[in-house]
Amino acid sequence: MKTAVVGGGAAGFFLAVNLKELVPEMEVSIFERSQHVLAKVKVSGGGRCNCTNSFANVRDLSAVYPRGHRLMKRLFNVFDHEDAYAWFERHGVPLVTQADECVFPEAQDSQAVIDCFLSQARRHHIKICTGRKISSLAELLDFDFVVVTTGGSPKGEGLRWLADLGHEIAPPVPSLFTFNIADPSLTSLMGFVAEQTSVMIPGTRLRASGPLLITHWGMSGPAILKLSSYAARLLADSQYRQPLSVNWLDKSEEVVRALLSDAVARHPQKKLSTLNPFELSQRLWSYLLEKSLMERAQVRWDELNKKDINRLVNVLCNDTYQIAGRAAFKDEFVTCGGISLQSINSATLESKVVPRLYFAGEVLDIDGITGGFNFQAAWTTAFTVASAIAAKGV
Ligand SMILES: Cc1cc2nc3c(=O)[nH]c(=O)nc-3n(C[C@H](O)[C@H](O)[C@H](O)COP(=O)(O)OP(=O)(O)OC[C@H]3O[C@@H](n4cnc5c(N)ncnc54)[C@H](O)[C@@H]3O)c2cc1C
Repeated sequence: MKTAVVGGGAAGFFLAVNLKELVPEMEVSIFERSQHVLAKVKVSGGGRCNCTNSFANVRDLSAVYPRGHRLMKRLFNVFDHEDAYAWFERHGVPLVTQADECVFPEAQDSQAVIDCFLSQARRHHIKICTGRKISSLAELLDFDFVVVTTGGSPKGEGLRWLADLGHEIAPPVPSLFTFNIADPSLTSLMGFVAEQTSVMIPGTRLRASGPLLITHWGMSGPAILKLSSYAARLLADSQYRQPLSVNWLDKSEEVVRALLSDAVARHPQKKLSTLNPFELSQRLWSYLLEKSLMERAQVRWDELNKKDINRLVNVLCNDTYQIAGRAAFKDEFVTCGGISLQSINSATLESKVVPRLYFAGEVLDIDGITGGFNFQAAWTTAFTVASAIAAKGV
């Protein structure tokens, strides 16, 4: 029996190695269009490869997999993050879990993962054919099983041959990007991080929380990256032009009002500008005071009137900007969309239209936020396919 793996990336290698472990007599060949395999693994996580997550802070998979969470939940019964962690350690890649629950190789170097895959491929005599772009199944007639692990394709060109075979395609658009915001006043805050914010697209339920970083082109940081993932399709459909509401404290208006009243009661004689009742940097606090109260930003706490408080609460909890485009986030980007989950068997990831053709990794309409969730999707889907082929092929 012979299996062709189309794409020498994370999912392709994980699949090939696991298939050989399950079915040693299977002949497995990886076809990679470029001269180098595992290129994304190499640059991933800033060169350290955030290969999974402990999921300790994940209560609902839909928060980390905006597309594909139901399927991921099902497939986690087959192979989850704990299985991935154990797999890497068993295969000679000790891992560490950071305080933020992201998991990296102990070596802090993505090369550890690459070396593991390449040595396993050698050990199992997996054939690696680089410089081989596959564009049709006719090129793979010798094989009993074909697995497509061609990764994300934000412009869709890599999906055309798969659409021609009859698969439904969820239109691909980029995910995990930062926002361009044309607001000259923001430049005074360049480089600042607000530690606990929430951001949302007004009029929608799309909302994310976490640190927010002001950049020289707009906004970045975990809250923005998460929102870019949740809103990937909406933002693409509107040419990356949408309003953005920032809650600088990630607190409700009621709570903020109570904290402001408390500051009035405790420090009536102090100036607003010298007493910052929130854990905001002094520069951000001054910016928000100026923005909400203008010339009254210099008054004392006991001089605040009702209108001032309303303005201040509004800017702290609902500071509105205009997204004017997207910018690349160099540490990670993925494709939202791909092979529709309607076109595949959800237990085996086999195509519903072409028997013995399977999909794994980012080519599927599954994608996650940053934090190791995208590689976990690659490991989970690849292992599922290896098991499904093993069950059929033996
Ligand atoms: C800069 C960057 C950093 C990232 N960091 C992280 C991280 O730290 N943690 C995380 O979880 N995720 C990260 N990701 C996302 C993660 O890399 C991907 O989700 C993951 O690589 C997907 O694996 P894959 O095997 O499906 O696709 P890929 O790794 O993209 O592999 C697909 C392979 O198929 C090949 N190919 C494509 N078409 C053909 C064809 N027709 N014929 C033959 N070969 C073909 C490609 O050349 C490629 O080598 C990062 C992404 C980027 C861009």
